Amino acid sequence: MTTFKQSTIAFNQHALQPSKVVCVGRNYAAHIAELNNETPNEPVIFIKPNSAISHSLQTHPKDEIHYEAELALLIQNYSIAGIGIGLDLTKRDIQTRLKEKGLPWERAKAFDASVVFTDFVTAPNKLDGISFSLHINSELVQEGSYELMINKPARLLADITSFMRLIDNDIVLTGTPKGVGVVNKDDEFVVRLYQSVNHTKVELLTHTWLAK
Ligand code: ZN
Repeated sequence: MTTFKQSTIAFNQHALQPSKVVCVGRNYAAHIAELNNETPNEPVIFIKPNSAISHSLQTHPKDEIHYEAELALLIQNYSIAGIGIGLDLTKRDIQTRLKEKGLPWERAKAFDASVVFTDFVTAPNKLDGISFSLHINSELVQEGSYELMINKPARLLADITSFMRLIDNDIVLTGTPKGVGVVNKDDEFVVRLYQSVNHTKVELLTHTWLAK
């Protein structure tokens, strides 16, 4: 549906309008290997504008859409106020073609409905016990965690803000673990966000999307 209003996300029941989503590529070793990418010397950064944010997970009539489940950081006052999970949606064929030619990725990464988010909850003081999972049609396909990230959130924020301001309510997507694949119509995507405290895993949130 065409809309001319800013897209919103929800943080503790409040609707907020991120100006942009800053995405990090190649932040998990096993995912770098599955796409045959080189490990970068510095984080790979790209952005999705507010118009990319959608509430529904949509397939495309022509282009294959791939999912990447990622820990999402909601930024306020230059710190991590909220956490949630985002699906960075990618037209992989187009991205591969653009990569080969050294061209920008917007056609593959910044199209309408190229990112969906769960609601955000207040971030714990320390993120080191955070992990998440993605099940598609009840099958576990992706698992990510603070532990497995090459660059941890604090390092990512320092790197991003060395050249680009983060405005209140902007979101940082921290990269995807291995297990990326295709979104098929009617697939059921279930994500869960966990925090481990003293060896006990607590579920912070869960969300379900049905691919349209
Ligand atoms: Zn991604």
